[in-house]
Amino acid sequence: MPAIARIELFHVAVPLPRPFYPSWIPGLPQTENRFTLIKVITEDGVEGYGAGPAMGKERAGLGELLGPYLIGEEATDIDLIQQRLREVSYLGWRNWWVEPAFWDIKGKLADQPVCELLGGSPRDIKLYASTGEVKSPPERIEEAERRYAEGFRAIKLRVHSFDEAEDIAQVVETARAVGDRMTIGVDANQGWRVTVIGDAPLWDLARAKRFADACFDAGVAWIEEPLPMDAYDELAELTAYSRVPIAGGELNSQGLPELRMMIQRRCYDIFQPDAVMAGGIAQVREVIGLCQEHGLEYSPHTWTNGIGFAVNLQLMAASPFANDKDLEYPIAPPGWVVEARDGILEEPFSHDQGKLTVPSAPGLGFTIDRRALRKYGRRFFVMDRKRLIWYSLRTRGLKISREIDQVKREKMARRASG
Ligand SMILES: [Mg+2]
Repeated sequence: MPAIARIELFHVAVPLPRPFYPSWIPGLPQTENRFTLIKVITEDGVEGYGAGPAMGKERAGLGELLGPYLIGEEATDIDLIQQRLREVSYLGWRNWWVEPAFWDIKGKLADQPVCELLGGSPRDIKLYASTGEVKSPPERIEEAERRYAEGFRAIKLRVHSFDEAEDIAQVVETARAVGDRMTIGVDANQGWRVTVIGDAPLWDLARAKRFADACFDAGVAWIEEPLPMDAYDELAELTAYSRVPIAGGELNSQGLPELRMMIQRRCYDIFQPDAVMAGGIAQVREVIGLCQEHGLEYSPHTWTNGIGFAVNLQLMAASPFANDKDLEYPIAPPGWVVEARDGILEEPFSHDQGKLTVPSAPGLGFTIDRRALRKYGRRFFVMDRKRLIWYSLRTRGLKISREIDQVKREKMARRASG
């Protein structure tokens, strides 16, 4: 069984061709696609990757928290990785984005794509064009027409205005223009409201109900995150009331226990946990099963970066919902373009007429473009066995380091024997 031999962490910032104004952070244009990249290498040289979206270099200290406790562990023991990440979360750090790197390794060792490990198979997946900016009705219609011309038959709009009438006008007018040809969803981005720069509207149940009524009249297919992600009572009430399916759950970072409770309470009709942030692949896999059991649906959030997209694509391909549900495809030119979204992948996840085929390559199905990583990434942490010894000696001294080593050896021996 291959042990974890080395861990590297990188700050990555891929420049966007033009500033991008995400509806979910009013007033803060994004000029780069930023994320933390983890590269895990096993003793026999197999590499796995994961990535977590970042504002900047806020994870600069993460390596010290994670590295020493992963080196030497079994790289394909997902339960153990989940346990480590759970332990890290006790200290206030939720880093589920690390977990898919180990699935990547597991798949490469088994010579299978992750979707196959999960019981699915590489297949064609239908995509919906996920927009990212708030737009006036004429601008939005133009955008929808462009996506239609590119082959998309479904699109998700963004509303984030203080004026309720503006939100409704955008939906109604876009639906009037393209609703006969395109499935329309709409995201209010109220799940995790951000006001770091500009102010943002705050919906209550009454506004969400009025919006749901307007969306029903306009023929909208789903409404996403119309209320805060932990407003469980109100979400359940809204979902029972609305004639348009209510979707959400992308960043419920407590993972399976919270999402299970939300499924039991029917907080949403469609659950959208992003494995990068809502519990890793292992927990989201359980959520998918629960959705099916309860007659609810699953269609994951994917908007982080190319690696995050790959992770959720594999889960979707392994889910029973892959036939009927479209997958989120983040695309909002001229700022958020595929080349920047997938900027360190050798082959970007380009769509073909609004569809794409899940890669049959082993693991998560992408190859890191080393030149691009050198260009856009900066390695800020490396840990391997040798470095771990030095790290331990430096921070704890010889006597304590030996004690720790002894206890670890006993734990490994106990595990090995049974
Ligand atoms: Mg969303």
